[in-house]
Amino acid sequence: MAKSTKDETRAKVRAISGVPADAPQRAVPDDPGASCRVSSDAEEPAAPPPGMGASITRCLHRIADSFGIRVSEKAMELGRSSQLHHYLQMQADNMGLSAAMAPLPERFTAAQLPALVQYADGSFAVVEKRHGRMVEIWNGASSAVRNDPSGLEPFGEWACSFASVFETDAVPFLSLTWFTGQVGRMWPIYSQVVLASVMIHCFTLVIPLLMGIFYDRILPNLAGNSLRVLATGAVIVLGFDYLLKNIRSILVEKAALQVEREAEPHLLREVFNVVHAALPASVGHLTHAVQEFSRIKTLFTSQLVLGAIDFFFLFFFLFVIFLNSGVLVMVPLVISLLVLVVSLAYGLFIDRTVSMQARLQSRRSSFLNEVFQGMESIKVTNASRAFVSRWAQEVEKSGEMGARYRLAQSRCSMTTSFLSQLNSVGLVVVAFALIGSGSMSSGGLLTTMVLSGRCVAVCASVANLVTSYLFARRSYKDLYAILQLEKESGEGGSLQIQNVRGDLAFDAVSFRYQPEAPYVLENISFSVRAGERVGVIGPMGSGKTTLLKLLAGLARPSEGVLLLDGHNMAHLNVEKVREKMGVVSQSPVLFHGTLEFNLLMGARNVSQDALEHALLISGIDTFVSRHPLGLKMPIAEGGRNLSRGQRQSVAIARALIGDPPILLLDEPTSSMDSTQEHIFVERMSREMEGKTMLIVTHRPNILRIVDRILVIDQGRLVADGPRDAILAKLGQAPAHREGRA
Ligand code: ADP
Repeated sequence: MAKSTKDETRAKVRAISGVPADAPQRAVPDDPGASCRVSSDAEEPAAPPPGMGASITRCLHRIADSFGIRVSEKAMELGRSSQLHHYLQMQADNMGLSAAMAPLPERFTAAQLPALVQYADGSFAVVEKRHGRMVEIWNGASSAVRNDPSGLEPFGEWACSFASVFETDAVPFLSLTWFTGQVGRMWPIYSQVVLASVMIHCFTLVIPLLMGIFYDRILPNLAGNSLRVLATGAVIVLGFDYLLKNIRSILVEKAALQVEREAEPHLLREVFNVVHAALPASVGHLTHAVQEFSRIKTLFTSQLVLGAIDFFFLFFFLFVIFLNSGVLVMVPLVISLLVLVVSLAYGLFIDRTVSMQARLQSRRSSFLNEVFQGMESIKVTNASRAFVSRWAQEVEKSGEMGARYRLAQSRCSMTTSFLSQLNSVGLVVVAFALIGSGSMSSGGLLTTMVLSGRCVAVCASVANLVTSYLFARRSYKDLYAILQLEKESGEGGSLQIQNVRGDLAFDAVSFRYQPEAPYVLENISFSVRAGERVGVIGPMGSGKTTLLKLLAGLARPSEGVLLLDGHNMAHLNVEKVREKMGVVSQSPVLFHGTLEFNLLMGARNVSQDALEHALLISGIDTFVSRHPLGLKMPIAEGGRNLSRGQRQSVAIARALIGDPPILLLDEPTSSMDSTQEHIFVERMSREMEGKTMLIVTHRPNILRIVDRILVIDQGRLVADGPRDAILAKLGQAPAHREGRA
């Protein structure tokens, strides 16, 4: 791998691991090498004897370093008692690398490096780089450059090569090649479109040529029979033309529909894959950007393809004019060029206007979105007048831009129609001389006039294409910027853990929402054992919710590492992790549909028992049983037909349905009355035995179900200890212990 590529890879992997480029490397722990099992109890000598290698963990640290990955000590413990190849596989997965074990090659290729190798005494070394025919080997004490066949002699029979799994050749969605690829896949359809277009353009020649014949041959001779034959032929051709145009439209739409069917769901999937905290704060902007995708799609799937065919026929028509009237072709040629220049100049002129117009449209949609979502607050604060006047300002600005844009458009079309008329005048003047000298007939002039009108029209249509291109480019930029945001782990390649115990740990985690913003959480380290119940308390804005968001994968640590069962969470498949987590956010949102839909949210294989159990614990069993439609009761958009407390209970039931081993609850009872809360506390403490639970709360009642309390203040962990000790320190009466007595 070239140095720059390797550096890029390092940067990429660092970014994916959430490790800043200048993060200090950790001290490497010593542990023994092992031939077939990795044991953790023996001690490795401080410095290896000459000729011998290093411990396996030191070698793995060395390999991780070479990819710019920071591995936590806890993660190194993972799989310590398993077979060596399982241990290596697990560690590689954990680092976001792939490991391939193979017989020791006679010569290593660059792609096989770095590779872990083993000495006969059971210790290890890393074959790091190639230097021509030599390899560089690190044995824990020093690096040596050796000729590879002889240098590799001391090693055992195998070598384990490591590579980054984050490198991909996949064409990123929304790149130009993605679109050309899509159009390429639709080629069977587009080839028919091209064929139909060629025939349609050929038919375009029929009428002008017939008019020439009519003037030159039929009219002077009053040849009625020939006229009938020609007219019949013309009607048949026009009929075909009509039919083909219809077929072409259907084909173009079919291709566009196929691209749309694949691209639009893919687009939403891509947006879902962006780390939540990295998404633009404005929902309206996001909605607008996604909706504007249709402009890009239309440009690529129909306008550009048809425009290219039209443009090709421009030259064909000019050639026919040349054959028909010789030098007269100069007039439509010059006029067509002028129309092209005007269309392109218009494009340059409106470029800025289009950008402004697009931005204003996005702002308008954000504004309306916000207003309609916050209608209730606007009304109760009597702020409608203020919002109407802000809307008037928005309308004024976008109206001004719209007028500027329309003015430019009408100037452009006026200029092209002026040039088109100039074309007719020019043709008549030049043809006068040609007809006078006998080198052209008046029928020829008529044919040229009609065909040159077609040429000018093709050039004028470039202005429309330019407008579409500019709008699509703007939309493309917005959408591309969103899709470039930090992604949750990719679907393939990420470590997929099946059995989650529920051990959680923060290892020196700091977080800020924007690169320049102040830290919301700073250097947080703590661990939670599987089955532990932890309350998180602290003043408003201290970072409690953010802490849960990090655990739920809605945000990525800016620094430090989050661990789940010893795995770096950045390398885990987020969807799989979320299957093992029940999360209740502070203001849960319900969706239009039925209560059942809102509870299951697409989850399959949920047994009736599990559903009923979740309803019971969350306390919604009572209001479900009271409703005549039961679980089929309709839910309005946002869950507006339920009280906040009921919405919270639905969200709790939703979180409990899959019986996840980890529960993250953010103020789960903040909108419940004391009776509801009491029932919730009682049922939770009875039923949630063995689950890891983190509960952010201000309610002392809820603290009855926790064993331990973390206190967060201004983004720092200021206290961590047994519940009653922490409460005593804070000057509160110890909570009566519920459940696990
Ligand atoms: P708590 O839950 O303790 O009340 P939060 O974790 O919600 O606090 O917020 C901690 C800090 O992070 C606050 O200062 C808040 O302004 C900021 N914050 C929260 N969400 C965002 C966000 N999406 N973008 C930027 N800053 C945010």
